[in-house]
Amino acid sequence: QAKNDGRNNYRYYSPEMNTHMLERIQLEQRLRQAVIRQEFCLHYQPIVNLDDRKITGVEALIRWQDPKFGMISPDKFIPIAEETGLIEPIGEWVLQQALTDLAHWHRLGFKISMAINVSGRQLLGHNKTSFKCLLKALLQKNNIEPQYLHIEITESMLMDDTEQCMAALESIRSLGLDIYIDDFGTGYSSLSYLKRFPIAVIKIDKSFIDNMLERESDAKLIKAIVMMGQSLELKLVAEGIETHAQWQMLQALGCDFGQGYLFSHPLPAQELESYLHQQALSIAISCS
Ligand code: C2E
Ligand code: MG
Ligand code: MG
Ligand code: MG
Repeated sequence: QAKNDGRNNYRYYSPEMNTHMLERIQLEQRLRQAVIRQEFCLHYQPIVNLDDRKITGVEALIRWQDPKFGMISPDKFIPIAEETGLIEPIGEWVLQQALTDLAHWHRLGFKISMAINVSGRQLLGHNKTSFKCLLKALLQKNNIEPQYLHIEITESMLMDDTEQCMAALESIRSLGLDIYIDDFGTGYSSLSYLKRFPIAVIKIDKSFIDNMLERESDAKLIKAIVMMGQSLELKLVAEGIETHAQWQMLQALGCDFGQGYLFSHPLPAQELESYLHQQALSIAISCS
């Protein structure tokens, strides 16, 4: 009898579970510190026109440089930031930093656009009106025309709280900026959402691009997404292009834009600036 109890207890307080919980709590504490100490930075990944590889914009991707543990991936800490509400101050910092950098590049004459990832909690959080106000204030402060700013949301967000989500997206749209659907094809894709929500661009998830050359079914799916996008007058961005062959095939399928290691990794602001200068230079040379 006692033995059984012991086993049950053991199962409940399993060492793996303790380790996991402890790690989770520690990560949360460090994340709180990171917000105070501003241990984040943004990297920018070029989004290019698939016809000529010319950069049309960048996506801002957050990086967390922990003094003790080094670089921590957003896939690891964004979910925790969402659960704890820390996403609100973090998201605000992202917007501020990204728009400051964008204004700087515009002043240099590089009229590129900026895509920013926004999570549901930011959009629908208790501050839903203030997210729009924040956007508006930051665009004004940095003197950026709204069509240069894009907001990326994931498909699954459109499923939660549809009415509220619709209202929030409409109010952001009314500022004049485009809304992108990120990771398209991985969530609960329901085609009716594409028609009902004010979406301008679909980003085809990397998982389809990864196997498109080996798996005919993935290539066919991409083709179907492209055709659907075209008939709804949406633009298409392919994510995670790593090879020349993928690029060629996506272009042949009619995909408009792409991003991926083939064109560039996400770059620190300074390196992105060099990339912009280099591209301008190579265009000037090829035209002369
Ligand atoms: P995402 O928005 O789908 O971003 C694309 C991810 O794919 C980025 O990962 C990028 O570095 C990676 N990637 C791009 N091209 C390639 C490629 O050719 N090969 C491979 N293997 N990977 C490629 P990252 O930077 O680790 O970001 C992961 C996710 O974290 C993002 O996925 C986004 O959902 C989230 N995230 C990043 N920054 C922010 C942010 O500021 N706010 C919010 N809410 N989420 C963010
Ligand atoms: Mg994204
Ligand atoms: Mg994505
Ligand atoms: Mg993703």
